[in-house]
Amino acid sequence: MKSTGRRRTTVVDVGGVKIGYPHPIVVQSMTNTDTADVEATVRQAAELAAAGSELVRVTVNNEEAAAAVPRIAEELEKRGVRVPLVGDFHYNGHILLKRYPECARALAKYRINPGNVNIGRRSDENFRAIIETALEYGKPVRIGVNWGSLDQGLLARLMDENARRAEPRDARSVMREAMVASALESAAAAESYGLPHDRIILSAKVSAPVDLIAIYRELAARCDYPLHLGLTEAGLGTKGIVASTAALAVLLEEGIGDTIRVSLTPAPGGDRAEEVRVCQQILQALELRSFLPQVAACPGCGRTTSTRFQQMAAEVEEYLARRMREWRSKYPGIENLKVAVMGCVVNGPGESRHADIGISLPGNMEEPRAPVFVDGKRVATLEGEEMTERFLRMLEEYVAARFGGP
Ligand code: SF4
Repeated sequence: MKSTGRRRTTVVDVGGVKIGYPHPIVVQSMTNTDTADVEATVRQAAELAAAGSELVRVTVNNEEAAAAVPRIAEELEKRGVRVPLVGDFHYNGHILLKRYPECARALAKYRINPGNVNIGRRSDENFRAIIETALEYGKPVRIGVNWGSLDQGLLARLMDENARRAEPRDARSVMREAMVASALESAAAAESYGLPHDRIILSAKVSAPVDLIAIYRELAARCDYPLHLGLTEAGLGTKGIVASTAALAVLLEEGIGDTIRVSLTPAPGGDRAEEVRVCQQILQALELRSFLPQVAACPGCGRTTSTRFQQMAAEVEEYLARRMREWRSKYPGIENLKVAVMGCVVNGPGESRHADIGISLPGNMEEPRAPVFVDGKRVATLEGEEMTERFLRMLEEYVAARFGGP
């Protein structure tokens, strides 16, 4: 993990997971099952945790969901899944947390949206009630502002103030300031009710990457609370992944962000754990954390008209993902492994030399032989139909020798 350049923060303990500098940036996700459906929620939370989600958030939207939370936590514990659960509250959190003390106790953190409790109004007893519950059970909170439910009273106040300026700012700047102010004013209110400074995490999510970057830069400059990064309503498929990556990468590279979530809209029946893998790939691409061995594969071009090279790259990737279930516990540091599968002589040998182990397949007009490089040296030349199997055997031997210890 990079240790320089990261913004200094307080550290918040969420069920044993430390969030804030100098602890690694935490990956989190959220279930999309009906929380009241204990079996479905346990199954999905376990899948998210198995994929590497270090916190799992569940919506607690009604009495049935609040009643289910302790049973979900218990069932996860029984199955050996140790992942802190975060409760997502809107509108009625103050009622549910009071009425269901076992829910309040089972959750590792409460997420409050200041736009839909009564913070900023004449009386903020609902917000205060949630903070008092957090105090009673020793829990941290995330004050999660979302521009889709931004506190309208606060926004109106800032718009009025802006209108009175000699040179009013544009509406977008005022909206950004309202997001920042909502998070900071809510945090100040929580502290005034007794919540310790190191039990608060902030987020301020919008759906446009440029707004997200501007808002988090401002938040980072104005407080030392750990920040939860994520684009809200990121969208489907490629668009959601690219928009989230574009926004998060800029902030993370500036040292801003202590925990992240990528909010993808899954395809019907799609895999919810995809959002966890995208978070991991973002952190790994920026060299902030390592999760999985990486395969460098060239895109292929007119020099590789056969599909052999694409097949081999896919098979190597699939092999690594499968073997990681065993390797992870057996070989410390295995997540840093770099493998190259390249299509021809142009960049193949060079890229393969830079990997821990790499193979350069022959292009169209080249001799049908594939040199294999280990730690930068050419160690073998493979040919024939069993090239992939032989390369995978070499890969397995390399992993055992390099990561297996003395
Ligand atoms: S390494 Fe060879 S096959 Fe791959 S993209 Fe470059 S030129 Fe094309």
